Amino acid sequence: MAELDQNLQAVSGASELEEIYKERMTLYKQMEALSLIPWEYYAAIDQYERNVRSVRRDIPKKETGVISIYFTPEWWGGYINPNQDDKNPYTIGLYGGMGRDGDGDGYADRNNDKDILYTMSTVLGQFGNDREHIKIMLWEHYKRSKTVDMIIGYAKMFKHYKRLDVIGNAFPMPVRSNHSYRSTFGDRRSFGGRRMHEGTDIFAGYGVPVRATCYGIVELKGWNRLGGWRIGIRDLQNNYHYYAHLGGFSKDVQIGKIVEPGKVIGFVGSSGYGPPGTSGKFPPHLHYGMYKDNGRIEWAFDPYIHLANWERKEWAKLKR
Ligand SMILES: [Zn+2]
Repeated sequence: MAELDQNLQAVSGASELEEIYKERMTLYKQMEALSLIPWEYYAAIDQYERNVRSVRRDIPKKETGVISIYFTPEWWGGYINPNQDDKNPYTIGLYGGMGRDGDGDGYADRNNDKDILYTMSTVLGQFGNDREHIKIMLWEHYKRSKTVDMIIGYAKMFKHYKRLDVIGNAFPMPVRSNHSYRSTFGDRRSFGGRRMHEGTDIFAGYGVPVRATCYGIVELKGWNRLGGWRIGIRDLQNNYHYYAHLGGFSKDVQIGKIVEPGKVIGFVGSSGYGPPGTSGKFPPHLHYGMYKDNGRIEWAFDPYIHLANWERKEWAKLKR
């Protein structure tokens, strides 16, 4: 479960988690008032970096506070600063470091939440507080267009929901539908050549509804020679969810749109392995894949345990 529940790992109870969300929101809103940059950008950057930090070993775990944005000592203190842990705003300035004192205590502390957010605000707002300028500065800072797209998408979602606990999952088909699946991740394919199988095949009849498994943004929709009609959704945990071989799409599902767990995005088919419209070359099923992004690369992981978990939870809810 590590990939999906990382936000819950460090804390014991729901009320403690609620407190953390509240604390974060207060910090984002304070920074919005100070910088005139909308709070959702701080929330989005922090969310993205929390996800990255949870899967990267080269970034140290944060010991205190509730904000996860990471700056390297060199970036913060200046590349030629001999003091790798400099907290003095004056010497940091002399060495061309970016670290700033955000809470007015006289220290620019790389581990202090307010200093972190204030420093981020000076990066983002350097040339203006509007979306386009923020986007440019995000690119300047991260130097990776995929990262920028993810952060902009997260900001869109936070703005839409006006809250931080945008959490929940659903099984990709109605649990009462007739379907079957087993763990086939990494198997040799029964069709489609010798590529590793990056997902789980859920067999079901033609036309069974296919649903979004998470809150996310539709990143991809269309035809691919192998995948047929397929949809890709990016969630708030840096996961990409891939649905292939669909018989068709729901009309209201468009690239850039927000979807929620359980939202019908299409239906089961057997499309693929040929030019657009090719179908029926294998039994109808949903190919469901999950991919994790760590800020540098993306890799496939086995969705099976998540599928089984989501299905079990939905059954439990129905029986209540
Ligand atoms: Zn498959």
